[in-house]
Amino acid sequence: MIIVMKNNICEDDLKRVSKIVIEKGLEVSVVKGDEQSIIGIIGDTTKIDPRLIEVDEAVDHVMRVSEPYKLANRAFHPDDTIIEVGNIKIGGDNLVLIAGPCSVESEEQVIEVAKAVKASGANILRGGAFKPRTSPYSFQGMGSNALDLLVAAKKATGLPICTELMDADYLDEFNEKVDIIQIGARNMQNYSLLKRVGQGTKKPILLKRGLSATYEEWLMAAEYIMANGNPNVILCERGIRTFETYTRNTLDLQAIPVLKRLTHLPIIVDPSHAGGKWWLVEPMAKASILAGADGLMIEVHNNPEAALCDGAQSLKPKKYDNLLKEIKELAKFTNKRIQE
Ligand code: PEP
Ligand code: MN
Repeated sequence: MIIVMKNNICEDDLKRVSKIVIEKGLEVSVVKGDEQSIIGIIGDTTKIDPRLIEVDEAVDHVMRVSEPYKLANRAFHPDDTIIEVGNIKIGGDNLVLIAGPCSVESEEQVIEVAKAVKASGANILRGGAFKPRTSPYSFQGMGSNALDLLVAAKKATGLPICTELMDADYLDEFNEKVDIIQIGARNMQNYSLLKRVGQGTKKPILLKRGLSATYEEWLMAAEYIMANGNPNVILCERGIRTFETYTRNTLDLQAIPVLKRLTHLPIIVDPSHAGGKWWLVEPMAKASILAGADGLMIEVHNNPEAALCDGAQSLKPKKYDNLLKEIKELAKFTNKRIQE
């Protein structure tokens, strides 16, 4: 971090501003110019708020030269993080395929979909039990009963399960029953929830990108979980809000190579919530694989027309099967390994 001082300040100003930094346990390196001087801050600047230094009247502006996140930063952890869920690996040169209904609706539904996606080659079953719906009048999910149905589907297929936690009061139950805990887009900046899944579990956390989150905000959310004790974070790009209204969201494919550069954490893509339309899932899933994604999360429903949530963006099992055949071909052009 570099503090750029105003023109023609005096020695006392330099000393006063340097003291602010030194008192925080960091070192300074002062470079005096004829007109303008700068103070370089040496050490871990993650705990410094540049805006507070800018309050001093002798300071012109403060520039960050390194990112405010540390644990999630590739600079301090060059190798890809690989997260293991049973014998499934997420990250590195492994491709993970997560699929299932938006919401668990009944035992028959979730088991039928679980068997179908497993037969197509999916590695992990998804299914919402607690649903973050825009309207309080929409289906809110079956709650704890759905967790038991997911466990039954896991028993029937052997697929590990991934489902969304909205309320930390259920964390013990999730620890007992769930393999991957999803934090949804709307809760990406729910800092008390992020702290709880940092402190209260070592289960992998699938952290979806907030609707309007920058890469840095998203990585700072991951940092919250990691700094609180859980290093197992999987990032999931699921589309962001833009001025376009034709699609539900806009899939940010650039997030994949950018995040690969900024962080060692795995990044997967959810093309279902990105486009909001089932026919956009196939092209965007393929594009994501070619852009280097570590996996896909796709909504699959056995009867999308009657789905209680997100039917319009859900693939029928047959379509998912066809898609995975193509994904397996495409994976040959990337350095990713499909897991059986
Ligand atoms: C979901 O996965 O069903 C979901 C609600 O996702 P998001 O948080 O990305 O909207
Ligand atoms: Mn959904």
